[in-house]
Amino acid sequence: MLADKDRIFTNVYGYQSWQIGAAMKRGDWDNTKKLLEIGQDDIIDRVKASGLRGRGGAGFPTGVKWGFMPKEPKPDRPSFLVINADESEPGSCKDREIIRHDPHKLIEGALVAGFAMRARAAYIYIRGEFIREAENLFAAVAEAYDKGFLGKNACGSGYDFDVFVHRGAGAYICGEETAMLESLEGKKGQPRLKPPFPAGAGLYGCPTTVNNVESIAVVPTILRRGAEWFASFGRENNRGTKLFQLSGHINTPCVVEEEMSISFRELIERHGGGIRGGWDNLLAVIPGGSSVPLVPAEQIIDAPMDFDGLKELKSGLGTAAVIVMDKSTDIVRAISRISYFYKHESCGQCTPCREGAGWMWRVMERLRTGDADVNEIDTLWEVTKQVEGHTICALGDAAAWPIQGLIRHFRPELERRIAERQAPGGAEPMMEAAE
Ligand code: SF4
Repeated sequence: MLADKDRIFTNVYGYQSWQIGAAMKRGDWDNTKKLLEIGQDDIIDRVKASGLRGRGGAGFPTGVKWGFMPKEPKPDRPSFLVINADESEPGSCKDREIIRHDPHKLIEGALVAGFAMRARAAYIYIRGEFIREAENLFAAVAEAYDKGFLGKNACGSGYDFDVFVHRGAGAYICGEETAMLESLEGKKGQPRLKPPFPAGAGLYGCPTTVNNVESIAVVPTILRRGAEWFASFGRENNRGTKLFQLSGHINTPCVVEEEMSISFRELIERHGGGIRGGWDNLLAVIPGGSSVPLVPAEQIIDAPMDFDGLKELKSGLGTAAVIVMDKSTDIVRAISRISYFYKHESCGQCTPCREGAGWMWRVMERLRTGDADVNEIDTLWEVTKQVEGHTICALGDAAAWPIQGLIRHFRPELERRIAERQAPGGAEPMMEAAE
């Protein structure tokens, strides 16, 4: 279990003020100039050595990503850091806690990370629905400017660095990094075809790195306490501490910072207050936000909660948004509802996603009521495979994976519903009202 002295986010519950005075007492902005004096390449090397992998879902090594940025940006093509605070994945609610209770961790991280990748400015793209969080963030950025921590000669380092906060307007797809760049440029938030990757041509055609809020906010602490300290948590290739978001059928839902690779059982026992009705009542878990496949109870109970451990179970750590479902859950209905979400949020650019997401949802609704043919389960599986990996962005995968998880682990339940419906006197299907 992570000791209190090893917590990076010491105000994640908002017991203290988010403002700069309290943040400085907690250690933020403590001689940031000295961190910048480490030097740009050395900061990147230290972040690489810490083993930090992106906390936004994909898990790409953060230091390696920064290394793709040009070492000598041209005057007419400045580099930019874009911080993804769009956090719209159902189940995910960690970045909002950082922003509303500990925004200076993020802003100091933006300066340090931006400096390391030789960026001229950082843009924080915050989800439109985060109204109070955005208010705090705007105010915290203003506080940092007032203290001379941002702007010309930031922290007395001789480096000029600006931070801009930009509010989104409620589209899930703007959390996809290239859709976010389009949206920042004032266009419709639709993902771009890659290549070119943002490090080559990103915001306004300039070199850009897009990072998640948590990935950036942990950087100053990693530099202050050392890469070895951060790498001492978790397993090989899955290092550091992590904010887990525990929701669903547990006794005490919460956001908690823990060591990577903690077992699911320990995570839930220590912080989630146990499963509602006891461990025998656990049905399945979506371990990384709604887009990752569910894992049935018996497989997840002793699994390590990290990138590799959950990949082995054909799921993923994603944003570490752990959605727990007990045996009272109508699992087919739950996955069908998730399908509806992705159908609704598809930007419509590519055919497999635009047509496939709606098609999959409609079949899921019929499977929910049992009003389907048993062969359709295989057809649905095939369609998920045709959508997965054949779209411009990962929303196609996100629409396909939850259904694949359901068929992989709960096929007998789907067949049972169909058999029940087809039996003489089978109940009339109850169609779900589309929202
Ligand atoms: Fe748009 Fe879906 Fe294609 Fe992504 S996969 S670009 S959301 S249509």
